[in-house]
Amino acid sequence: MVNSISILGSTGSIGRQTVSIAKRLGIRVLALAANSNIRLLEEQARLLKPEFAAVRDEAAADRLRIDLADTDVKVGGGEAAIIKAASIDGAEAVVTALSGSAGLMPTLAAADRGLRIALANKETLVCAGELVMKRADERKAEIIPVDSEHSAIFQCLAGRNAEKELRRIWLTASGGPFRGMTREETKTVTPDMAVSHPNWNMGAKISVDSATMMNKGLELIEAMHLFSCAPERIKILIHPQSIIHSMTELVDGAVIAQLGTPDMSIPIQYALTFPDRCESEVKAPDFKTPLTFEEPDTEKTPCLKLAYDAAQTGGTAPAILSAANEAAVSLFLRGFIGFNDIYDCVAEALQRTEIKNAPDISDILEADAASRETVMKRIKT
Ligand code: NDP
Ligand code: MG
Repeated sequence: MVNSISILGSTGSIGRQTVSIAKRLGIRVLALAANSNIRLLEEQARLLKPEFAAVRDEAAADRLRIDLADTDVKVGGGEAAIIKAASIDGAEAVVTALSGSAGLMPTLAAADRGLRIALANKETLVCAGELVMKRADERKAEIIPVDSEHSAIFQCLAGRNAEKELRRIWLTASGGPFRGMTREETKTVTPDMAVSHPNWNMGAKISVDSATMMNKGLELIEAMHLFSCAPERIKILIHPQSIIHSMTELVDGAVIAQLGTPDMSIPIQYALTFPDRCESEVKAPDFKTPLTFEEPDTEKTPCLKLAYDAAQTGGTAPAILSAANEAAVSLFLRGFIGFNDIYDCVAEALQRTEIKNAPDISDILEADAASRETVMKRIKT
């Protein structure tokens, strides 16, 4: 178990749960970071007494500095401050719970210091998986997945030689709030409808991603990098109850699953206590509820196919996919575009943005910016 951490995205859904787990397990929190929600950040800073609080929005950072003037907490603003929080002296692990590709540079900074990375921020692996995994490997930084499916696969593979023994990954998906609905039926769904997930209570972006099934596409790419597994060996399976969090099929035909009540506190806690287990309040699921499974329907959820194709293409294609999706989801949440337009935006960005092979960080950042630009042009014209 780690003794000291930094939490990036502490005011979000995963971040808030991490704060309460750290408090309960007596893990020292050395740094907190958020985008602009300084009201909650101040509350967390007073509760946890970290050394450092980072706010991406510089004006908000200035206000927080004044609000925390009576404490010993130092406050920093801008992206440099988020990176500083990710690599603060003394932390053994960093929980990357900020959303979007903004997680990339801080995650690399944590890898450079050889810290344990409790990785919730899947977009980082989607946009730069090869670079991040290589850097983590070189610096001996362990990446422990927080995403429930990847935590499940990680648990199913514990103590095994995956290279020799893993035949296939079964990545489960709830199907989201619009499971079974046709494209015609999803045309008019509103942001409120899209963020009401049947099984999980999550941040707005990932909730919309679950509704379009882009989330499962991003998770497919995340799994490829975490477990060195080609996309053809990752099977997506709709499992509406979200009790089986994913499965590994081994070469002898044995299938190992990890099950549990859908509660993110389990994988968050495990990423901090690994290889140990600690008590929690979470109870086992009600096994009288039947568990059901279906094949995904890529006609109804074409974002999944886009992600699969981007995974096969490689290079900067996944970065373009993820950045366009981030921009499009933000436009949808703000009422500028409809739900089905998210797919159109991402498909267009993938068509219009040049795809580079074997990208370095600057290629990834350029692809990310160009892709967002293509999406934003749709509402400017
Ligand atoms: P939320 O939207 O609830 O929270 C996002 C957090 O990141 C907030 O603290 C926000 O600050 C902060 N943030 C956003 N942008 C920046 C930035 N540019 N710089 C610094 N901080 C930033 O997201 P979730 O907690 O739902 O998700 C976080 C990540 O975890 C995502 O990548 C998601 O895919 C992944 N994940 C989430 C799950 C869940 O159950 N929620 C499950 C599995 C994975 P502020 O509050 O100030 O805006
Ligand atoms: Mg997940």
